[in-house]
Amino acid sequence: MKLHEYQAKELLAEYGVPIPRGQIARTPEEAHSAASELGGKVVVKAQALTGGRGKGGGVKLVNSADEAKEAASEILGMQLVTHQTGPAGLPVHTVLVEEQIEIERELYLSVAIDNSAGKPVVIASAAGGMDIEAVAESNPEKINRQLVYPHSGFQPFQGRALAFATGLDGDLLRPASDLMSNLVKAFEENDGAIAEINPLVVTSEGTLIAADAKFSTDDNADFRHFELAELRDATQEDQREVEAKDAGIENYVKLDGNIGCLVNGAGLAMATMDALNFEGGEPANFLDIGTANSADSVVTALKIIGSDPDVSAVLVNIFGGLARVDIIADGVVIAKNEGLLPQPTVVRLAGTNVEEGLEILDNSGLELTRADGFAEAAQKAVAAATNAN
Ligand code: GDP
Ligand code: MN
Repeated sequence: MKLHEYQAKELLAEYGVPIPRGQIARTPEEAHSAASELGGKVVVKAQALTGGRGKGGGVKLVNSADEAKEAASEILGMQLVTHQTGPAGLPVHTVLVEEQIEIERELYLSVAIDNSAGKPVVIASAAGGMDIEAVAESNPEKINRQLVYPHSGFQPFQGRALAFATGLDGDLLRPASDLMSNLVKAFEENDGAIAEINPLVVTSEGTLIAADAKFSTDDNADFRHFELAELRDATQEDQREVEAKDAGIENYVKLDGNIGCLVNGAGLAMATMDALNFEGGEPANFLDIGTANSADSVVTALKIIGSDPDVSAVLVNIFGGLARVDIIADGVVIAKNEGLLPQPTVVRLAGTNVEEGLEILDNSGLELTRADGFAEAAQKAVAAATNAN
């Protein structure tokens, strides 16, 4: 789960990471009063779960409470488009109003999981404030890394090494190293996936402060962080994924193509997407319906797929093991009869209770395209999608 900047900053502040004074606002008037309290010279920042807000017009520096109100009225209600959001952008319902900081230098600091090392890694760079992926591409020597070993934890010498490498010596050595330890602690205790401060600012007074913060947690650990669940902002997520999650379908993932997929088993679902690609098609979603043991969950899943305007054909690809093919067939028939799945639909059924399942389809009188094999099913689905367009 991704936290908003203001939520991430509150979390990091609890761990001793210095952050600017600030308040959130949901109306221009609230932004006005927040700016007055902070002395007028503030920055108004769109709270949307994306990076690159600055370049997308979501971060405005202003000099008075009136200007803050005006900036907030421009930002609130906008669809913020950045290089990370895609053309639709993300809605902005909240701004963070913060005291402006006098920036001397902008650095980059983050903790992430290094998958190949199987450990958290602390990354620091003197090239902060900008797109770190671009820096890693063009100047990899400017990226400094220290792995966090589980037995010893993040050691002060590692913090000092990173501080030196990013030019934080002298009086800043100790605060920089402490800040890194605190960031690692926040990351570990909250099952972080990424904790990023970009920019980490050296102020004109020679202190360190987190001018921006991004924090995302590992969804697999949600069950032990009920306190974080309250911070979820569903308006920032794909609305079909939200609907699926609310209906107890945990692994629906929206994709860019036009062939809706209902599959059982994560492996078969991945293979189905590959097969569609192989035949020249593109999946509109990933979905593993799992051991569907009621037609209801199948109907719900098909409703979500069927209501997606991107979907021009649907492929139901089931190899029943614990999942019973007859239950899936029931779900398909109900969804079709209720008009929830108007797109041409290719059905390939195999495995447990396949005879019963096929009989249900036969008796339904519905116009469904049947396929026996996996490759044939993918071909027919791609053909159906092509004809539909
Ligand atoms: P992002 O574009 O989504 O990463 O948003 P940031 O919070 O990083 O803001 C983008 C840029 O705005 C930063 O890199 C800074 O250069 C600038 N900025 C943000 N806050 C302040 C501030 O308080 N004072 C000044 N002078 N610049 C700021
Ligand atoms: Mn930033």
